Amino acid sequence: MQHLNVPPDNHVKVLNGQGWVGLIDHLGTEATILNAARVSFGKLKDSVDDKDVKLLEYLIENQHTSPMEHVVFTFSIHCPLFVRGQWHRHRTWSYNEISRRYTEIDIEFYNPPRLRAQAKINRQASVDAEDFDDKILIEKMHQHNAESLKLYNELLDAGVCREQARGVLSQNMMVTFWGTVDLNNLLHFLELRDSEHAQWEIREYAVAIKKLIKPLIPNVAKYFESKGQIW
Ligand SMILES: Cc1cc2nc3c(=O)[nH]c(=O)nc-3n(C[C@H](O)[C@H](O)[C@H](O)COP(=O)(O)OP(=O)(O)OC[C@H]3O[C@@H](n4cnc5c(N)ncnc54)[C@H](O)[C@@H]3O)c2cc1C
Repeated sequence: MQHLNVPPDNHVKVLNGQGWVGLIDHLGTEATILNAARVSFGKLKDSVDDKDVKLLEYLIENQHTSPMEHVVFTFSIHCPLFVRGQWHRHRTWSYNEISRRYTEIDIEFYNPPRLRAQAKINRQASVDAEDFDDKILIEKMHQHNAESLKLYNELLDAGVCREQARGVLSQNMMVTFWGTVDLNNLLHFLELRDSEHAQWEIREYAVAIKKLIKPLIPNVAKYFESKGQIW
């Protein structure tokens, strides 16, 4: 049996190789979207020609979104706790996560490759820093993670339950979860999270998801590329 903490074959690494997102499963193709749009005419096709591509573009352009809900993806995601917090705000996904109450998997912490500075005007933004030594600060973060893990183990050794002991583990702890979402809501997620307004870390995952799904929805990707997006 494969452990969930191991990336699936089809995955993209992010965050300097510490995180990953993998495609576990998917349902439907671009032909499914077109067939769903044409259900009212009672006609089905299993290929996509130039006329179909025009219809696909029309559907996206005019936010005729329901046909895209017939295409569904399941991803496996390995990310820091704080990224998981942002991700789970997307209510149109279905989630399941490895539980620290039931498992004894190795605890691992995200080590940021560099530290960014707080942007002065926009409190939601960060900027490249030149006025602090991030090597020293990153080392202090390592020490803090090691200390929190030591305390966690001390609490377990003393007989404290896992569900309370985990409270001392830092926001940089890596977690693994499955997320399932339809294409319409995934496109919404990608718009919000592959954006300069989103945190760099979650943006890495959005970019990786685009790489994973592009071969499955090439004309949808092409449409967004034609609007200036990078896929
Ligand atoms: C850059 C950025 C910064 C953010 N900062 C903050 C912050 O500071 N604080 C904070 O709390 N959140 C913040 N968020 C989270 C944000 O408010 C949304 O919760 C998150 O982006 C999910 O978006 P969504 O609701 O559109 O997605 P989903 O939950 O996936 O929903 C998709 C769409 O379905 C519809 N929908 C879903 N549920 C409902 C519902 N119950 N009622 C009506 N319509 C519904 C809506 O049209 C919605 O847009 C931030 C998000 C981003 C991208």
